[in-house]
Amino acid sequence: MSTNCPKCGGIVDDAVVSGIVSLKRSRTPMATGKVSALRAEVCTVCGYAELYAAKPERLFSDYVAEAKSQAKKKGKGKKG
Ligand SMILES: [Zn+2]
Repeated sequence: MSTNCPKCGGIVDDAVVSGIVSLKRSRTPMATGKVSALRAEVCTVCGYAELYAAKPERLFSDYVAEAKSQAKKKGKGKKG
C-alpha cells in the first residue's frame, strides 16, 4: 500500500509503536479490557505519524453483536 503524507506529500511507511489501545465505554467507568496493539504510519520526510489500532475488530466486536440484536428486536415489533 503506497500512501502519501497528508501534510507534506512525502512517502509514508509503516512503523512499530510500543503500546496498546483499550476501549473505554461511556456507560462503564472502567476500560473493558479489550485491547489491541498499535501500528503507525510515519512520513519518511516530515515525520508526521498516524496511529491505528492493529486489530480494531477486537475492540469493537461486541458492537457488531449489539447491532444485530437491536435489529432483531426492531423486526419483532412488526404487526401483520
Ligand atoms: Zn510528511
